[in-house]
Amino acid sequence: MRHYIIKRVVPIFLPWRKIRDFNCLACGVCCYNFKVPLKPHEAVMIVRNFGRKYITSSWGKQYITKGDGEPCPFLLRKGDLSLCTLQSLGMKPTACKVWPFYIFKRPAYGKEEEAYFSHKFGSFYVYVDQRCPGLIMGKPSLRLRETISEAIEIWLGTRREQDLTCSSRAALSTGVIQSLHWAGNSILTV
Ligand code: SF4
Ligand code: SF4
Repeated sequence: MRHYIIKRVVPIFLPWRKIRDFNCLACGVCCYNFKVPLKPHEAVMIVRNFGRKYITSSWGKQYITKGDGEPCPFLLRKGDLSLCTLQSLGMKPTACKVWPFYIFKRPAYGKEEEAYFSHKFGSFYVYVDQRCPGLIMGKPSLRLRETISEAIEIWLGTRREQDLTCSSRAALSTGVIQSLHWAGNSILTV
């Protein structure tokens, strides 16, 4: 599984106006390489359903437990696709849903004008992590704007469903629906 590990560990954040589109490839790069921060209620849900060992605390924050060089324990490989077993259980963390987009109320990484995004819920500054292979550079498309709008609503907690953001569409496009036995639970995944 070494080819899922990326060498560039330092993130490069680009303002969203540098990007034409985003299509999640279900490649698993994010699930292999990054720590997943959890909101308190997300951590509680994972502990209740899977046990304490799936959560790691560090400096007052909670993350999904990952071993060195290991992928997220909730990652499922299906052929060439990387799927999230938490997704179909309604437990996919917000950080995973909105990645590779980073949303702020202030211009956190400079390029203020290019990062500015006007949404019906207010003004935001949006950057993308260039390490995601699903990003296409260029002039922003309408679809990208819709994707960012969706990411903002998920980030704000006003929306749960994913139509355009990370992984749901790619996972659904596989047409694979099957029961899996994982961690002692029978779960349905897509
Ligand atoms: S969000 Fe990006 S890195 Fe993660 S699975 Fe999709 S394409 Fe790959
Ligand atoms: S919770 Fe799901 S999307 Fe997030 S890193 Fe784990 S497998 Fe990937």
